[in-house]
Amino acid sequence: MYKNIFLTGLLIFLCTGLFSQDVDYARSTIATLASEKMHGRGYVKKGELKAAKFIRDEFKNAGLKPLLDDYFQEFDININTLPSKIDLSINGKELKAGTEYMVSASSPSIKGSFEVIYFNSDEADKRELLDFYAENDLSDKFLLVAGKLKDSIFKYRPENLAGLLLYAHKKLIWRVSDAYQVSPFPILYLKIEVAPEKIREVDIKLKSKFIEDYETRNVMAYVPGKKNPEKFIFFTAHYDHLGRMGRDVYFPGANDNASGTAMIMDLARHFSKENNEPDYSVGFIAFGGEEAGLLGSRYSAEHPPTDLENIAFLVNLDMVGSGSDGITIVNGKVLPDAFQAFKEINDEKSYLKSVKARGESCNSDHCMFYKQGVPAVFIYTRGKEFMEYHNPDDRADRLPLTEYEDLFMLLVDFVNSF
Ligand SMILES: [Zn+2]
Repeated sequence: MYKNIFLTGLLIFLCTGLFSQDVDYARSTIATLASEKMHGRGYVKKGELKAAKFIRDEFKNAGLKPLLDDYFQEFDININTLPSKIDLSINGKELKAGTEYMVSASSPSIKGSFEVIYFNSDEADKRELLDFYAENDLSDKFLLVAGKLKDSIFKYRPENLAGLLLYAHKKLIWRVSDAYQVSPFPILYLKIEVAPEKIREVDIKLKSKFIEDYETRNVMAYVPGKKNPEKFIFFTAHYDHLGRMGRDVYFPGANDNASGTAMIMDLARHFSKENNEPDYSVGFIAFGGEEAGLLGSRYSAEHPPTDLENIAFLVNLDMVGSGSDGITIVNGKVLPDAFQAFKEINDEKSYLKSVKARGESCNSDHCMFYKQGVPAVFIYTRGKEFMEYHNPDDRADRLPLTEYEDLFMLLVDFVNSF
């Protein structure tokens, strides 16, 4: 009896000691980051600053040390924002922002009633489109382009246009990667199901605010290593998201990337606990400015918190809220030894359904460090159970976190295998 109790106690100690992954902590962290009070972790109402302070406080509470003099690494960005109410009516009928239409983040301010002129590119080629621009005065008109040239319209955009109107056939998505500047006219993406057969008139009121040298930041901390404290393994994840599109719409960004942020915060708590101290130092960076063009990781790779040669490995997590189909490792094909290590651990422990390798892709923050010669991978989860992306439905209450524990343990084992 005594022996049994002792063994049970030992097992509990080993389990909690080795893997203190805490899915409840992750859920509450994601709920906080994706809540409306963080305004989508963008630049309207300083949502990203609220998120950064929250992450810093959590790092501090877990006993982590700052990597620089402070936990914050500030950098400046230029960003166009849409802070005020957006009004849009088509043929006199008011539409709902976020679900019925999106307006490009680089939009200038615009107000008024505009005639809509059609160009159906199914029946025309590029040459005819350019002729059409030359022949028509479009300066007070919205141009609706439908058909096969719809996606290449950005290459052949006219200068003298009030606005561009495009149909969205799939679910609407938004992005801020073009918001480093103000474009000459707004682009409206209209959900095809709510578009009347013939669009005659667009009534729009939209105010944009371009902010130069907006100060934002990365949040960085670390747990010193026991054996090789000068060598680092980094876990990174961007905490910023798209922010607000007008007064009424915010993008929660639960999967993108409150999920990855929560996981690195949970890993930080794990490695800071007694008995879990790693041999190498483990660094954590929550990047800002990712959605605006990988700006936080670019700054950090150019102003690294430790010599880049001392970074033995970097794992970037971005969108890890699903997982029923396993994970994909970007750079797995160019870093075969690391990929093999992940795969072997996974096979041995039966964590995830599959671990797939991809080649190089500059699609998240690992890229900026990889370009500087740091062995770096980007891991995301795969699974049809959650497909919301860059829309207002990427919400915390819907995020399944299917393979949260297994991915967490795979990452811990990976560090311990170093
Ligand atoms: Zn994103």
